[in-house]
Amino acid sequence: MTNTDTADAEATAAQVVALAGSGSQLVRVTVNNDEAARSVPEIARRVADAGVTVPIVGDFHYNGHLLLAKYPEAATALAKYRINPGNVGGKRRDENFRTIVQIAVDNDRPVRIGVNWGSLDQDLLTQMMDENAHAAAPLDAKAVYIEAMLASALRSAQLAEEVGLGHDRIVISAKVSGVQDLVTVYRLLAARCDYPLHLGLTEAGMGSKGIIASTAGLSILLAEGIGDTIRVSLTPRPNGDRTEEVRVAQQILQSLGLRSFTPQVTACPGCGRTTSTFFQHMAEDIQAYLRDRMPEWRTVHPGVEEMKVAVMGCVVNGPGESKHANIGISLPGTFEEPKAPVYVDGQLVVTLRGDRIVEEFLVMLDAYVERTYPAAAVTP
Ligand code: SF4
Repeated sequence: MTNTDTADAEATAAQVVALAGSGSQLVRVTVNNDEAARSVPEIARRVADAGVTVPIVGDFHYNGHLLLAKYPEAATALAKYRINPGNVGGKRRDENFRTIVQIAVDNDRPVRIGVNWGSLDQDLLTQMMDENAHAAAPLDAKAVYIEAMLASALRSAQLAEEVGLGHDRIVISAKVSGVQDLVTVYRLLAARCDYPLHLGLTEAGMGSKGIIASTAGLSILLAEGIGDTIRVSLTPRPNGDRTEEVRVAQQILQSLGLRSFTPQVTACPGCGRTTSTFFQHMAEDIQAYLRDRMPEWRTVHPGVEEMKVAVMGCVVNGPGESKHANIGISLPGTFEEPKAPVYVDGQLVVTLRGDRIVEEFLVMLDAYVERTYPAAAVTP
């Protein structure tokens, strides 16, 4: 999701392009006021002019029914609308919701019904809390909260279908900020409906906390076959790189063996056997080299994203791990003979020595890619 001011079409389009360039396959922009809605068609134009075809999803709260009706060009420029049923208006909630869905139907656009635990429909929650208080065996408050989230999502989906939106045009999400709660909510959702589910730990936070919490929650669900699209909601540092959340999401999917996006480098953590930093520099250099080459390799050498490269620190696990990779190098640990055997598809092919081990290994890596992932045929 972008974090630019959507009214700033130039900056927002640039971020959409950057996110798509990092691998995002859906980009959401907030559409929060008239200026933002007016800007949406220009954003879509600028993104298309950059040769990028990523679908742009509009995120609506409070005034989506007004903005989509007032700015039909925005409604058609967006590929999908996200509606938060807790934020579509108090007493006229159903009417406003119907308005948005009708515009989606008219434009043949899917809708994501995105419930969020921080903005749950308060009327529904109050009603369910009251009913629970009078039940013979009341649930605890958190369980009622979770039931209210599910009810909000599923009732909204039913209402959308009543308006005329196809069953297959509805996606549901129900985001919470706690990992265990996320797993509970989505397991229940998956058991109670067959709508596609968008997964995400909301407000995951900054740095390693956000990455690890998102990975923990999403991995459990994805491993169970739950989830169709994902987002990692990281808080970037001020002026930080927004595309980090895309790379984390890709790494989750690739680590689980669900999708491949970029060659994986297996590097040992190092220990007392690697007293110099040479091995760390080499692992870093190879990772950076792969990242730099991927934009070209991705198009020229299809399949290269499946490649596994090993950079190991000593003889203990180095040869074994290198043999498991497509191409791997086992560097000499402290007190070992200064030589680095290179394995290709499980076979020892050469032992490198001297000061140019990295350069020579990268030449071998290039040759491996050329040989193993031949250039895609170009259609005349
Ligand atoms: S492979 Fe060698 S250097 Fe790397 S962690 Fe294992 S023992 Fe240490």
